[in-house]
Amino acid sequence: MKKIAVLTSGGDSPGMNAAVRAVVRKAIYNDIEVYGIYQGYQGLLDDDIHKLELGSVGDTIQRGGTFLYSARCPQFKEASVRKRGIENLHKHGIEGLVVVGGDGSYRGAQRISEETKDIKTIGIPGTIDNDINGTDFTIGFDTALNTIIESVDKIRDTASSHARTFIVEVMGRDCGDLALWAGLSVGAETILVPEAHTDIKDIAEKIEKGIKRGKKHSIVMVAEGCMTGQECADELMKYINVDARVSVLGHIQRGGSPSGADRVLASRLGGYAVELLMEGETGKGVGIKNNKLTATPFEDIFNKDDHKFNTDIYELAKELSI
Ligand code: ADP
Repeated sequence: MKKIAVLTSGGDSPGMNAAVRAVVRKAIYNDIEVYGIYQGYQGLLDDDIHKLELGSVGDTIQRGGTFLYSARCPQFKEASVRKRGIENLHKHGIEGLVVVGGDGSYRGAQRISEETKDIKTIGIPGTIDNDINGTDFTIGFDTALNTIIESVDKIRDTASSHARTFIVEVMGRDCGDLALWAGLSVGAETILVPEAHTDIKDIAEKIEKGIKRGKKHSIVMVAEGCMTGQECADELMKYINVDARVSVLGHIQRGGSPSGADRVLASRLGGYAVELLMEGETGKGVGIKNNKLTATPFEDIFNKDDHKFNTDIYELAKELSI
């Protein structure tokens, strides 16, 4: 393997830069040339492909977002369009491609490795949602978790000053991990996630009991995939007369300097992706399981649901918020 390329695709996440930096430095350390593909698969089609040097990734490890930029490129799902992208890779003599992104981005990488045997592909999980099979954690999850915790700690100050119930809506369409981990970390009264049913009437009763006991405030953590914060507040107020306020954290969850945990994870996964390419591996996504680096075939990542909702944490959060 003499030349590889790296791109970031789909939703950005803090730590993507650290992952790209690791890919670039690990490759150059091993005498492999590295090309950055700007704007994800769109840049691959537009031949927005440029050689990266050691210095190209200097001063990026601490930066959120992705300096390679990310883009949605729906037309990449069509084989005839992908052919153009593959031709561009061939034109530059690229033999290996590292894709940092989510499930959709992995599908693009899988197609490339199926459609041309001389380009090997490896995926690195970059998304704050923690919703990718084959890994316990995705790059960006820990930073987003810390952003939510910081925000809710501030909300809590005003919630207790005014004895209010705050409904905090966080990201997570299909995966409630951010709501779950953040909920446990901030001592939320209730955590609403897509993976578990919670009766709003029960939440109302719990909040009421807390108020009677002299509780100064309540925090309800809602994953967007379950319902919106406003829907939750409207439902709650059908059962109890509380001053419920809604906070939708939105895109601040995606930004910011990556946490230590994310920088370490991104660096490890970036380095490992290059090692796999050097060993001739292809069609796999890297990950971390029980603190061990793993490589899982894309096919299994798409079809084997091994990223289970952590019911132990969910039950513990319930027990600790009586
Ligand atoms: P994520 O990678 O975060 O899941 P998307 O689902 O938006 O984000 O996918 C990112 C990009 O990956 C898409 O814009 C498209 O270029 C490519 N992609 C998604 N699905 C496929 C597919 N089935 N085949 C080929 N490319 C795909």
